[in-house]
Amino acid sequence: MSQLSFKPTPFLLFFLGFYVALSTPEDPINCTSHKTNCTITNFCGTFPDRSICKAQKVFYPTQEEDILRVVASATRKGKKMKVATSSSNSIPKWVCPEGHNGWLISTKYLNRVMEIDAEKRTARVQSGVTLKQLMEEAAKAGLALPYTPYWWGLTMGGILGTGAHGSSLWGKGGAVHEQVVEIRIVTPAPSEHGYAKLHILTEEDQHLNAAKVSLGLLGVISQITFKLEPLFKRSITYVTENDSNLENKVITFGQKHEFADIIWYPNQHKAVYRVDDRVPIHTSGNAVYDFIPFRPTPAIQLLLRRTTEEAEEFYGDSEGKCLVAKTETNSLIASAYGLTNNGLVFSGFPAVGFHNHIQASGSCLGSDRNTKIATFCPWDPRIKGDFNHKTTFSIGLSMVKNFIEDLKKLVELEPKAFCSIEMHNGILMRYVKGSSAYLGKQEDGVDFDITYYRSRDPMAPRLYEDIFEEIEQIGIFKYGGLPHWGKNRNVAFEGVMNKYINADKFLKVKDEYDPERLFSSEWSDQVLGLKEGLMKVSAYAPITTIVHQPKATFAGQAKSTRKQGERCRSGSLPPTIKWRFPIIELNWSTENEQRKAEKTEDGVEDLELKERVCVSDRIRRQRLSNRKMMRYWEKNRNQDGWSGWNSKPN
Ligand SMILES: Cc1cc2nc3c(=O)[nH]c(=O)nc-3n(C[C@H](O)[C@H](O)[C@H](O)COP(=O)(O)OP(=O)(O)OC[C@H]3O[C@@H](n4cnc5c(N)ncnc54)[C@H](O)[C@@H]3O)c2cc1C
Repeated sequence: MSQLSFKPTPFLLFFLGFYVALSTPEDPINCTSHKTNCTITNFCGTFPDRSICKAQKVFYPTQEEDILRVVASATRKGKKMKVATSSSNSIPKWVCPEGHNGWLISTKYLNRVMEIDAEKRTARVQSGVTLKQLMEEAAKAGLALPYTPYWWGLTMGGILGTGAHGSSLWGKGGAVHEQVVEIRIVTPAPSEHGYAKLHILTEEDQHLNAAKVSLGLLGVISQITFKLEPLFKRSITYVTENDSNLENKVITFGQKHEFADIIWYPNQHKAVYRVDDRVPIHTSGNAVYDFIPFRPTPAIQLLLRRTTEEAEEFYGDSEGKCLVAKTETNSLIASAYGLTNNGLVFSGFPAVGFHNHIQASGSCLGSDRNTKIATFCPWDPRIKGDFNHKTTFSIGLSMVKNFIEDLKKLVELEPKAFCSIEMHNGILMRYVKGSSAYLGKQEDGVDFDITYYRSRDPMAPRLYEDIFEEIEQIGIFKYGGLPHWGKNRNVAFEGVMNKYINADKFLKVKDEYDPERLFSSEWSDQVLGLKEGLMKVSAYAPITTIVHQPKATFAGQAKSTRKQGERCRSGSLPPTIKWRFPIIELNWSTENEQRKAEKTEDGVEDLELKERVCVSDRIRRQRLSNRKMMRYWEKNRNQDGWSGWNSKPN
């Protein structure tokens, strides 16, 4: 499949032709017959390995008793289960049951705010309630959930599932799970207890630390109670500066402002500081934040944008990307990213408004049906729009300066590579705090959120993928970054449990709540380090030729030392070469085998790996020149003792 393919599906033509507005995303679960024979995917329609996950049945409980019934029935039958949401906003495949015969328990209709207690300042909600719903209902009672993600389409159960967060170093920090006071969770149970058990976990209960970030592996969260605060106002000012002092400023800036974050545009040498603090409630202002990339966008605009990006990728047109990036950045900054002083226009800083109007947004969800133009969220899989990788990890505050300095070395080496990131609004830096959740953040740090182009064609190389993978490896392996559980490619989860001091405690609770592993899958076991093979070459992958040298052998060089015809067995790659992208080169042995791989996509377990190992002439053109990369490695890997993906920093 060509990267340049224009994809005006009949569906899209229908929309373009008849001007019907529709942007509410589809349910990620699709069944061929009534709630049976189902598939599940994520919000962008594609998991990292591009597989479509299957399930025998889906259940839509509306109350706790229904959940108890379904879990009991599945446990009695020994069925695999997964909790799915209406949004499925996580990139990795946490929601996939193992095999084809598992059950899905959707929280789509667990969507009631049960109680807002104004006196105790708490809200008890069913787990499928969205962030938007909770914030709106709390505000009606004069209350606020102070720290949340920026996208309001997530469900509260899903947010706890992956430890999702906003940005703050103040108090207990920006993670939603730090504001939880009670969780009601249904787990499997032995027959004498009716095969299902409801656990009510309060702050006194150690198990709450496991359930607060559970990855959906412990059972079904039925209800959650959050601690709220009186509704307050905030004042936001964006300050754009040269990035020369970013590494020295990053910590003090986060300590100084309660809702601070930074957007970094490395090629443009710009850092945009969000100066964001509480102000007295009587401060005048009615600001509204409607983040531009989360607004309803005409399908045609998304189509043109994606087609242009594909063309730039295909022709290696990094100049073109830089031009687009610069134009878009300037426009976002000029329009304050979608912040308005009164819900209509932006007339200048500071913009003051109620917390519930500026903390999160997502107007592309169910946008105005009166509009005459078909609009969508930019990543909606029904149209040709955004399709990206998201590499997101947090680095401890003590290491953040060094990490930024390392990134700056890469910027110096190949500034244009960063235009791909800037086209997707740069590197978002948010503050996170150490958590009591067993799988929460281990220390105070900065979360780096990096979005970049992903090809629809799993065999196509990406422009500057070596640079992006270098960033990924520096963050995850050199600085021991903690990956966001709801984002990232598989490689970010390699050895991840070794980074959590309470990993054993989490696994103990998991064994106690779900001894038969009914809520686990082979993939989740691999992430938790309970099974080998997270990064293996699939048994279905085509035979490849592999060329490797112990050190500093790059694409072009490797070619000259290739033992023609050498075959790589399927299975794990030797650790010495695994994931040192520049020193491995794998080629599909024939074009036919390449096609075969595409056809057997269902069986190929890790196409992410295929993307990485596919080396064509084009990728050689698109990669850095060998000499440049050699120099970089000599200077930055060999000299500081960090020579590979699994080494520790000095
Ligand atoms: C546009 C966009 C913006 C985002 N912005 C942010 C952000 O600002 N900050 C941030 O940290 N993240 C952000 N994310 C990532 C997102 O927060 C997480 O991936 C989140 O977990 C997804 O929530 P969901 O409701 O879609 O859950 P899903 O992705 O469907 O599920 C996540 C996990 O939770 C489990 N789960 C869900 N409900 C329950 C339940 N009731 N009981 C037990 N387990 C359950 C699932 O089984 C799964 O393991 C964003 C994602 C998108 C697409």
